[in-house]
Amino acid sequence: MRKPRIGIFDFACCEGCQLQIVNLEEEILDLLGVVTPVEWREAMSDQAEKGESFDIALVEGSITREEDAERLREIRARAKFLIALGACATIGGVNKLKNNFGMNDVKETVYGEAADMPHLETMPTKALHEVVQVDYMVHGCPIEAAELAHVVRTLLAGKTPTLPAYPVCVECKLKENACRFEFGEICLGPITRAGCGARCPSEGSWCFGCRGLVDDPNTQAAREVMAHYGKTIDDLRGKMLLFNSK
Ligand code: SF4
Ligand code: SF4
Ligand code: SF4
Repeated sequence: MRKPRIGIFDFACCEGCQLQIVNLEEEILDLLGVVTPVEWREAMSDQAEKGESFDIALVEGSITREEDAERLREIRARAKFLIALGACATIGGVNKLKNNFGMNDVKETVYGEAADMPHLETMPTKALHEVVQVDYMVHGCPIEAAELAHVVRTLLAGKTPTLPAYPVCVECKLKENACRFEFGEICLGPITRAGCGARCPSEGSWCFGCRGLVDDPNTQAAREVMAHYGKTIDDLRGKMLLFNSK
């Protein structure tokens, strides 16, 4: 029987999520036993023929140019399942910071006097689902490698992967961490999707929301927490800009 074919693609990003795939180490060898990687620029010298199809396309990075959007549509057309990999792909991530400014200002800041050159065209950042249909999302900056392995294995078994639909606070409290609000910080744990094991609060930092908003965030509870610690909703919004700009 033919092994399922996987392609791995990147757009605007640091490629840290692909590195997490490499970091799967022994698990990736197991996975490679059940799939055939046919396109992976970062790790393969031979690439698939143009137009070849995939069972699963893993796509990291954000869409920041019209030519990126075209390429993403072409990948979508070739893939049975398309999985967005990491915050840049699932929510736009840090790349969406630029959406808080005019595009000309952004280009002048980055390219200076060369900003008008036609090949430096740019547009407001989009997450993948804002351009094409995305079947599954593996959140985080970077992704949790084990979560990706779970999603791929579940799909290959013909089942539907599910990801945590509760906030980071749940995992944080299970770990009995001291709450960052007690240290005068603003933590996005109450409104952010869990699945990272409360990685940041467990290391003594506030959650900066890299896994995106949890489904139906309990905004009233978040308001109450902010009020209890003498913070405002504007304080919260300010913290959200880093990963959750519109
Ligand atoms: S989500 Fe983070 S680690 Fe992954 S590609 Fe984007 S910036 Fe890099
Ligand atoms: S607000 Fe942050 S530190 Fe406090 S419990 Fe929630 S995730 Fe943990
Ligand atoms: S604690 Fe928050 S910022 Fe840190 S990895 Fe988890 S979701 Fe991302």
